[in-house]
Amino acid sequence: AKAKPAANSANTAATAAKTTVKLSHPDKLLWPDEKISKQALLDHYALVWPRMKQFVVDRPLSLVRAPDGVGGQRFFQKHASPGMHAKIEKTKNPTDGEEILFVRDFDGIAALVQLGVVEIHIWGCTIDKLEQPDQIVFDLDPDEGVDVKAVREAALDIRGKLDELSLPNFVKTSGGKGFHVVVPLKPSADWAEVKGFAHDFARALEQGAPDRYTATLSKKARTGKIFVDYLRNGSGATTVAPYSSRAKKGATVSMPVTWAEIEAGLPPNAFPIGDKTTLKRLSEADPWVDFFKKGKVLKRG
Ligand code: ATP
Ligand code: MN
Ligand code: MN
Repeated sequence: AKAKPAANSANTAATAAKTTVKLSHPDKLLWPDEKISKQALLDHYALVWPRMKQFVVDRPLSLVRAPDGVGGQRFFQKHASPGMHAKIEKTKNPTDGEEILFVRDFDGIAALVQLGVVEIHIWGCTIDKLEQPDQIVFDLDPDEGVDVKAVREAALDIRGKLDELSLPNFVKTSGGKGFHVVVPLKPSADWAEVKGFAHDFARALEQGAPDRYTATLSKKARTGKIFVDYLRNGSGATTVAPYSSRAKKGATVSMPVTWAEIEAGLPPNAFPIGDKTTLKRLSEADPWVDFFKKGKVLKRG
């Protein structure tokens, strides 16, 4: 029997997004080991679309394409290429003249799937305010061999410190080895200010527990520790979008979750596409529903 969807559920046929974009080879397996086809990926996005759209619409995108599936060649793509569907829109960054790709609606997402996009990455800003981020991302990157429990504790540690600063905070799985703690902002501070804040925050964490955390990118500094990756917050930097699939073993997604789920021992690679655990999660209340409503202006000093 099917679980009864919660009131604000995205998990009903009635609310699943629809598209006129046609998939050329819907049965093509993008994740052959997990038997996830292009159509299955599109079905995933149709299901999560009501929750996902606020994080991807009208936002610069970078795409990981795997036209022959995740075992084949992969391309990280920021600009248009020939034959792209018109629903993948283009604009110019007035600051540097660089072309930016974005989507306006679910047809745009379907066009990405058609293209063999297996990961959707976003800038932390919208196309109308390219110089003023609307989020801060702390990407927790454990060194090989660091226990996943320690990564959860790091996320909870960050949450506590953000609470002390009265900064709203949300958490998602990366779908890989870590978690992303994300702070919504009212766009105001520029990239330099936001990255400066994130760097100071990461350094303070390292100073508080130098045996557990490092704020330095180098592999050497990371030995046995968790790199608090503040570099997601620079101009042009990207992070995998909430609800995006990952080109990783297990065909996982980057899933917005609750802090209670982290406390209860959730692993970062939970939630494969179409899995019953994923469908169950999506039938429960949306933990990121009021993300942007909670955004604050970042004050420095
Ligand atoms: P994990 O939990 O396994 O670390 P993750 O999504 O946080 O998963 P990272 O390796 O920490 O992965 O981050 C990679 C980041 O680098 C992503 O945010 C991505 O947007 C960015 N990026 C920039 N250039 C590339 C590229 N060429 N290929 C893949 N990612 C890239
Ligand atoms: Mn990471
Ligand atoms: Mn990282």
